[in-house]
Amino acid sequence: MTDTTRFMDSALEEARKAAARGEVPIGAVVVLDGRIVAAAGNRTRELNDITAHAEIEAIRHAAASVGTERLTGADLYVTLEPCTMCAAAISFARIRRLYYGAEDPKGGAVDSGVRFYASPTCHHVPDVYSGLAEREAADILRDFFAGKR
Ligand SMILES: [Zn+2]
Repeated sequence: MTDTTRFMDSALEEARKAAARGEVPIGAVVVLDGRIVAAAGNRTRELNDITAHAEIEAIRHAAASVGTERLTGADLYVTLEPCTMCAAAISFARIRRLYYGAEDPKGGAVDSGVRFYASPTCHHVPDVYSGLAEREAADILRDFFAGKR
């Protein structure tokens, strides 16, 4: 198993844990120097906080763990294409590489919607790798919403 696969597997695990908590199942991990420094899932319901997306939670935990405001040189893995808020936070955090699973044509902001990283007001653009374990990431979401009906 490659490191990339292993890190995305950890993000998928966080997504499954989020589903078990009744949260929309999206998971993220932040990797620095080849190791996971933060792993998180969506906690918007638990925290009554619409900013508690998996990516934001992972960035907050990673920054606290490393003790720096910015995460220069860190990579972020997330199961779904980030939304506008998270795409911006990833840029502000100076994340080096963004790896995401499924595309999100309805809410994504990287390759969908506003395409934040192509905007002239975006001052740090991570390298973006999409489509990692996208079937699995999409299945977790689909199963969650199917169960809700
Ligand atoms: Zn988001």
